[in-house]
Amino acid sequence: MESVILQCDGVTVDFDGFKAVQGMDLTLTRGELRFLIGPNGAGKTTMLDVICGKVKPASGKVTLRGGVDITRKREHQIAELGIGRKFQTPSIFPSLTVYDNLEIAMKQNRGVFAAMRAKLRSEEADRLAAQLEMVGLQGKAAWRAGGLSHGEKQWLEIGMMLLQEPEILLLDEPVAGMTDRETEKTGELLQHIRKTQSIVVVEHDMEFVRSFASKVTVMHEGRLLKEGSMEDVQRDDRVAEVYLGK
Ligand code: ADP
Repeated sequence: MESVILQCDGVTVDFDGFKAVQGMDLTLTRGELRFLIGPNGAGKTTMLDVICGKVKPASGKVTLRGGVDITRKREHQIAELGIGRKFQTPSIFPSLTVYDNLEIAMKQNRGVFAAMRAKLRSEEADRLAAQLEMVGLQGKAAWRAGGLSHGEKQWLEIGMMLLQEPEILLLDEPVAGMTDRETEKTGELLQHIRKTQSIVVVEHDMEFVRSFASKVTVMHEGRLLKEGSMEDVQRDDRVAEVYLGK
């Protein structure tokens, strides 16, 4: 049986009278890679904001595996419960090396200042090395993070997130601005991550979404418009109308 890891029920977000999200449901199962698509302003990013606790819904509920209600929890509490969020602009330390960025991410739960002083335990150093390799930056550990390419910065940040061992990753347009080769490598990275984690990706690049056999959730004007495989979604007249502009 597929086990549910995240459930959003009837989520409504009200920005001073404007309903950016209205009665939105979303159920994510363990190990799932879900794409959230829809035209600009559909409420996709706001949904990620609700899940990670950045935005509080006016109504509705967000629960984690085992029925843990996270709707009213603070952002850092939600992060501690295993939800990692990546924004469009990478939050890395550009003047530090790639290795140091990963080291700080790994030790973040000890507090930044303690983290700067503490040495890595050997199993942590092994995990960090494995992470460097997973995100394809093993040859650039000593590089200043600010000197990486756009794609590499995104991978570094994903690596930093993974070192905090989230169960669910929320990614906002991870391939925006990437070259074709970088996009392809990001796809491989997501396939790898989904073996152990669940991922929700807000994505505009339909070619990229199509390259996965994953479930797609289409939002429009704050609501769920359609959910299913990319083929199902593309066949839907309403989706074509609002999203694909046909
Ligand atoms: P998407 O990610 O699908 O493009 P968003 O979730 O970013 O859509 O935005 C949904 C709607 O909510 C948009 O009309 C946007 O302008 C509005 N919105 C987003 N954030 C805020 C905010 N903090 N205050 C007011 N309106 C907002």
